[in-house]
Amino acid sequence: MFDKVLIANRGEIALRIQRACKELGIATVAVHSTADADAMHVRLADESVCIGPPAASESYLNIPALVTACEITGADAVHPGYGFLSENARFAEILEEHKITFIGPTSEHIRIMGDKIEAKETAKKLGIPVVPGSDGAVTSEAQAMKIADSMGFPVLIKAAAGGGGRGMKVAHSRADLGLALSTARAEAKAAFKDDAVYMEKYLQKPRHIEIQVFGDGKGDAVHLGERDCSLQRRHQKVLEEAPSPALNAAQRAKIGETVADAMRKIKYRGAGTVEFLFEDGQFYFIEMNTRLQVEHPVTEMVTGYDLVLEQIRVASGASLSFKQSDIVFSGHAIECRICAENPKTFRPSPGQISYWHPPGGLGVRVDSGAYQGYRIPPYYDSLIGKLIVHGKTRNDCLMRLRRALSEFVIDGIETTIPLFQDLVRQSDVVDGLYDIHWLEKHLGMK
Ligand code: ADP
Repeated sequence: MFDKVLIANRGEIALRIQRACKELGIATVAVHSTADADAMHVRLADESVCIGPPAASESYLNIPALVTACEITGADAVHPGYGFLSENARFAEILEEHKITFIGPTSEHIRIMGDKIEAKETAKKLGIPVVPGSDGAVTSEAQAMKIADSMGFPVLIKAAAGGGGRGMKVAHSRADLGLALSTARAEAKAAFKDDAVYMEKYLQKPRHIEIQVFGDGKGDAVHLGERDCSLQRRHQKVLEEAPSPALNAAQRAKIGETVADAMRKIKYRGAGTVEFLFEDGQFYFIEMNTRLQVEHPVTEMVTGYDLVLEQIRVASGASLSFKQSDIVFSGHAIECRICAENPKTFRPSPGQISYWHPPGGLGVRVDSGAYQGYRIPPYYDSLIGKLIVHGKTRNDCLMRLRRALSEFVIDGIETTIPLFQDLVRQSDVVDGLYDIHWLEKHLGMK
């Protein structure tokens, strides 16, 4: 096992990882930018290192500073969290070159799955069903037109290097295609310095259902069921739940086993998420995330397993601590992403939290690095915490969530709590009848 883990992240996820390290008796090193000197993840760590100025490119994404921080503190492993360098294959490689363990999959797996064209080809070869679309990259309008005509409109142009919903454009007809192609390309180039794009059939009313997997890197792998992340805004998840109201046990077991089997074949190591669109009873692979997800707690709540602890164990060379037959799903869990944003316009609302009272009680979990008096810096993602609620049934979970939301008080800044208070009272949400477009329609964006 490791002696000391450096956590290359900030905010709630840095704290989340610290908690697992502490339970395992591993010392922790926090890193922070000058803007985060007062952050809770810094206060609670055993040691901390300032790695640069506020801009993420000069601090949390600064590989030389991170490697130096490991060397100064003697950390023997790095947990990257999510975002920042968590899916940067070069970072994983550089750490290995310095004899520091990267708590995650191999750099080769990160690289393959980071290129969405290659990821889709790999998935297909492994027997995972994929969204119909172009075979590889689309390079000209004429080629795009040919593929679109054969698949039928609408179609979606997507960035090969995509992430965070960027570089994605829908073309509803032949007349839209040229513009969709050129804008997707330009957006991809600006966001990822890579203008490679590919094409998919645009599914009209799918749900986003993802499967959590875990591998030991030696050929054993299991699945921990699904999460339904269909409530989205601008292709970004807002609320997640497990199990999905749209799946039955047989469908869960079938897709779960397909994915776990694929992970066994490639000898996948650590936590991963295979994302699908689900429409008319069919699953269509869209991408794989080779890291811990923001929404991992809903899986923890319904399985009882600590995914971060397991990531650390597996990275240290241990076998999986559970077999497929050990994993029993119990009850229902929902996560609300609480952001420092105006709940109607979604404009960021950084600033000082003058009053902070998180909810509590049975089945209520708050993962957050915020506290009363904390000043939210304007430089990073607006996520300030996650409220995760568990109940014996979906209905119990919703009742508890309504109660928890009514207890949550955050003053001094605007938050998305009012949005969730509205959502948990909508009949479609209560009945579990929503697809990936529901939230934008509800918000009047469509
Ligand atoms: P990113 O990596 O940018 O998050 P994804 O491929 O994971 O991109 O897709 C993000 C979201 O975009 C999905 O959850 C879904 O809402 C939407 N989406 C992606 N592909 C399609 C498709 N073929 N048809 C309809 N919606 C899609």
